Amino acid sequence: MVQYVWGYLDEYETEREEILAAVDQVFRSGKLVLGPSVAGFEREFADYHGVAHGVGVDNGTNAIVLGLQAIGVKPGDEVITVSNTAAPTVVAIDSVGATPVFVDVHEDTYLMRVDQVEAAITERTRCLLPVHLYGQCVDMAPLEAIAAKHGLPILEDCAQSHGARHHGRIAGSMGLAAAFSFYPTKVLGAYGDGGATITNDEGVDAALRRLRYYGMEDVYHVVQTPGHNSRLDEVQAEILRRKLTRLPEYVASRRAIADRYVEALSDTEIVLPVTAEGNDHVYYVYVVRHPKRDQIMAALRERDVHLNISYPWPVHTQKGFAHLGIKPGSLPVTERVADEIFSLPMYPSLSRGAQDKVIDALREVLATI
Ligand SMILES: *Cc1c(COP(=O)(O)O)cnc(C)c1O
Repeated sequence: MVQYVWGYLDEYETEREEILAAVDQVFRSGKLVLGPSVAGFEREFADYHGVAHGVGVDNGTNAIVLGLQAIGVKPGDEVITVSNTAAPTVVAIDSVGATPVFVDVHEDTYLMRVDQVEAAITERTRCLLPVHLYGQCVDMAPLEAIAAKHGLPILEDCAQSHGARHHGRIAGSMGLAAAFSFYPTKVLGAYGDGGATITNDEGVDAALRRLRYYGMEDVYHVVQTPGHNSRLDEVQAEILRRKLTRLPEYVASRRAIADRYVEALSDTEIVLPVTAEGNDHVYYVYVVRHPKRDQIMAALRERDVHLNISYPWPVHTQKGFAHLGIKPGSLPVTERVADEIFSLPMYPSLSRGAQDKVIDALREVLATI
């Protein structure tokens, strides 16, 4: 399966010298694995979030896997999350042998219905896993109150929310730990795979470091199972150090594009993204909605405008999760919005002309359906 990474080539043209200098620096350092670039990035990424520790890992899925294991989630435990998310959130829960338990999402923001979480808690619940989806945060204060009342840790899935803020707090600083992906399309993306888990907890930090390194504490001595080889690469870490300094720029560009879409489309019947109170949205995905989604997308394709859906199938309806036995209809809002949502192009280097092409085509199509 080949995936086209939107906007990457335009961005590379702008940042090429910096990126190549980073690669050269690593290749000349004589340290290719767990060297100064990973350590430097971990320090800078943790500092960016005002958090004590950061652990670089190989991708966002494993950032969640290791995060869950580091906070003590074991096979047979339950983890409460949402089904309207990128499947890897749930793949990670499943792969530690835990059972995902889903609550529904809000009709306007598509984010976790925190008011449904308490009813989903059982004696097997071991973790709450909010997903700050599309670039804005879940309503954290009530979730933190539930977590405190029941003595449950929160692991934030921040794969789509680098730099997002919630009542002034930065995404990734609110849970016991937080998992990030640096997949190339993400708000902070590497030139390949990468991830990180950050935490204020010393014990969680130490566990993360063991888990990504075969379960070893000292070299050649395994102290914990199951271990993994889940390290962030030096080259990606050095690239990420440079790109981290540009994160505010990336977010500003995304917000400018979002403003443009609002200006150009708010008089149409397309439902535009809603930002929840207290949130600073970073627009990882610009998700819009219309009941005639499929018809609109087909008409756009005829005009050579190819849009994406994030995500077309709620995780609990996917074949690989049939064993969970969750019946269709049990998450009504999640299931309904999956049939109506689609995404407009969104990445920092998206040109004005490319925005115009989508806006014009969409307005034309809407006038005919
Ligand atoms: C991208 C993503 C992940 C997985 O990250 P990878 O680096 O692709 O493994 C997990 N959760 C969410 C919400 C994501 O968007």
